[in-house]
Amino acid sequence: MLSSLPVLEKCAEDVARANLRAYDAARASFSWEAARRDLDGLPSGGLNIAHEAVDRHAAGPRGSRVAIRWLGRSGTTRDLTYADLSRQTSRFANALRGLGVGPGERVYTLLGRVPELYVAVLGTLKSGNVVCPLFSAFGPEPIRTRLAIGGARVLVTTEALYERKVAALRASLPELEHVLVVGPKGAPPEGTLAFDALLDRSADAFTIPATDPEAPALLHFTSGTTGKPKGVLHVHQAVVAHHATGRLALDLHPEDVFWCTADPGWVTGTSYGIIAPLTHGVTSIVDEADFDVERWYRILAEQRVNVWYSAPTAIRMLMRAGIEPVRRHDLGALRFLASVGEPLNPEAVLWSQEAFGRPFHDNWWQTETGGIMIANFASMPVRPGSMGRPLPGIEAAVVRPTEDGVEEIREPGLEGELALRPGWPSMFRAYWNEPERYAKCFRDGWYLTGDLAHGDDDGYFWFVGRGDDVIKTSGHLIGPFEVESVLMEHPGVAEAGVIGKPDPVAHEVVKAFVSLKPGFVPGEALRRELLALARKRLGAVVAPKEIDFADSLPRTRSGKIMRRLLRARELGLPEGDVSTLEDAP
Ligand code: ATP
Ligand code: MG
Repeated sequence: MLSSLPVLEKCAEDVARANLRAYDAARASFSWEAARRDLDGLPSGGLNIAHEAVDRHAAGPRGSRVAIRWLGRSGTTRDLTYADLSRQTSRFANALRGLGVGPGERVYTLLGRVPELYVAVLGTLKSGNVVCPLFSAFGPEPIRTRLAIGGARVLVTTEALYERKVAALRASLPELEHVLVVGPKGAPPEGTLAFDALLDRSADAFTIPATDPEAPALLHFTSGTTGKPKGVLHVHQAVVAHHATGRLALDLHPEDVFWCTADPGWVTGTSYGIIAPLTHGVTSIVDEADFDVERWYRILAEQRVNVWYSAPTAIRMLMRAGIEPVRRHDLGALRFLASVGEPLNPEAVLWSQEAFGRPFHDNWWQTETGGIMIANFASMPVRPGSMGRPLPGIEAAVVRPTEDGVEEIREPGLEGELALRPGWPSMFRAYWNEPERYAKCFRDGWYLTGDLAHGDDDGYFWFVGRGDDVIKTSGHLIGPFEVESVLMEHPGVAEAGVIGKPDPVAHEVVKAFVSLKPGFVPGEALRRELLALARKRLGAVVAPKEIDFADSLPRTRSGKIMRRLLRARELGLPEGDVSTLEDAP
């Protein structure tokens, strides 16, 4: 159905300057060993993310280049060059040493997007510790469970966050020995140390110890879209994938200004908001503030952003505001736009082509994969609604279970579970303390992603839905994404979330929740219009039987529609883990 939409061809100029020009040739010649050689490695042996991201640039001609341009909420700007970042992260690594924090111990951050967050994350990696960035908006309970699960030894936070959310938890976290607070006005709260004072006392040179490429580096919790978040562990070697995918999927060139809008509290904000751009020596924009249409266009224009990595929720909110605000800004520097986190509706791809003169390029990956696995590349035609093709070095397939394993579905258009052949460097190495759950993800030599997809004749992959969200009605399997995308074709629809509602006859019926763009009023007339559109485009079986209007849809902090909550609320069932819900208390 969606594949009947127009294909957006690329102009010769775009193809010529893309890092990946010819897909088949790039795949054929790619090896992870060769990708590893694009990085330095440590002089003492081994591979350390912070060396590749910071120190190797700091020591050379790129040392004076701005690594991170920080845009404060209230208008302040702070630039950190690669040399500055190297010194600051060394101070942090020395500070950890001084506190007696041993290799492999967990350092957590609970910070907004402030420069200290980037210093703490990279400094922790330098020192050979494992870093776990948490969303600063989490409430005390999600913070406590995540600190406890990973056995946090150190937490870096602010005075205000500490007093509001952490101080009362200290007694229940015996392993949490050190809390460093950023920006206390006077003496730091009892039981904490002042971050700045500690760094000031620490030397600004640090020799990164020989780091085993398999040494644990990053602990990230999943978004909790389908249930209780899992702690996902990545190793230093992941940087090979961060770098290669930054080049191939995000088309990063060394002179670029890059803006990844994701918070490091979820994996995109770390893999591509911190590590990948720095390994390429680009200037990375960090905005402290939350989403705001006008502010975002101003940043893109004023900072001359070349490559922009964002998410469908944000894109849908930009669409909601219309094209007029785009026209008021000079976005001429924008060269490549990419999106991740949720399916990108074809409507959004077509809109971005109209608004920016370039499409958003959807790409697919998960916390578990550590980096982009399937992507629409700069040089390739974009098929709106498709996630694109597997990265060089990545073997992806659609599979179905058999009695003793899985088998590949090679027929285009047939749905099954999306699977990846293990072995890429940023593949997760564990669910923290859940070895059985980890083992269950692998079958017959495949990693099973839990997402459903189908392939087409040309090897593009199409997202159908999460295994858990798929709707079974009258013997058909329906992915919510296709239904949501059709509803979004209506000019009044800002967002749509689709669930299966139990039904005695059909097993489930399709029910949709939609939020509207300004100027559209919910009511019977609009409901009938939407139902008619859906029936015409999808047929009576797949079209929703019921449509409800909502001011907004429940979302995770990383911007994903929580269909399981729509379902639980509709059916009056328990809501389950809501720690990552956007407006959780
Ligand atoms: P949890 O595993 O806790 O339920 P989550 O899967 O949402 O949460 P993440 O690892 O942050 O946590 O998200 C990865 C998931 O997001 C993918 O498995 C997929 O379902 C969805 N996703 C990511 N990118 C895309 C995309 N381009 N198209 C469709 N879905 C996507
Ligand atoms: Mg998941």
